[in-house]
Amino acid sequence: MTRSARRACPASRLTVENGLIRPFNISGNDYIASNRQIERLRLQIVTQHPPGDFREGMPFLGGRLWIDLVNTRSDALGDLVSSPDGWQKWAATAELEPAADAPFEAKEARELRSALARLFDPLIEGNRPPADAIGVINSHLRRAASFPQLSANESRLAFQQIPVEPLSAVGEIAVDFANFIAAGFEPARLRHCSGEACSLVFYDSSRNGARRWCSMEVCGNRHKVKSHRARKTDTE
Ligand SMILES: [Zn+2]
Repeated sequence: MTRSARRACPASRLTVENGLIRPFNISGNDYIASNRQIERLRLQIVTQHPPGDFREGMPFLGGRLWIDLVNTRSDALGDLVSSPDGWQKWAATAELEPAADAPFEAKEARELRSALARLFDPLIEGNRPPADAIGVINSHLRRAASFPQLSANESRLAFQQIPVEPLSAVGEIAVDFANFIAAGFEPARLRHCSGEACSLVFYDSSRNGARRWCSMEVCGNRHKVKSHRARKTDTE
């Protein structure tokens, strides 16, 4: 891979500066994204990652692939990827291609999940994220080398990053997180569900930014029923 190709990679490595995670390229210079690229990535956050809901009984409501992985462990549902079979089922439902060596990949997925989960609150609060968690993610990003390519799309030129080798399912999740950081997310939109005893998390990409629940069907309705009952008792 050439040096210039590395420079163009949006997030070949993550680094921490003044307590914030930033994309950083391997040659040591900061990656400077054009405003247009940032806007494109921001649009991707909203359009390619609709809020979603439960699929096959598993939560896919994080608004981002990496958050969906974090949600594979919750108080209510336990650990959905604790076994190789569980991992394969989750990965297929997430439209990822699980590797043939499912036990090894399931273990890698749990390690990546633990790293991402440990970054969640520091990202919201703007606190220094744990270096070991970033190390785990970087070890996957190092295997996710890509190069820039142009393609003619009707009358326009389109820019794409092409992976040197097909990404593993776990690699795709690490890259999703790196792109999330590169796109300049809004910390206040990273949230814990407001449901009592619900440990699910999400990125609120709604227009008004007022999403409170993991899922309207689950915690949202529970809340509605509860406040309705409370109002009834008040008036009785
Ligand atoms: Zn909830």
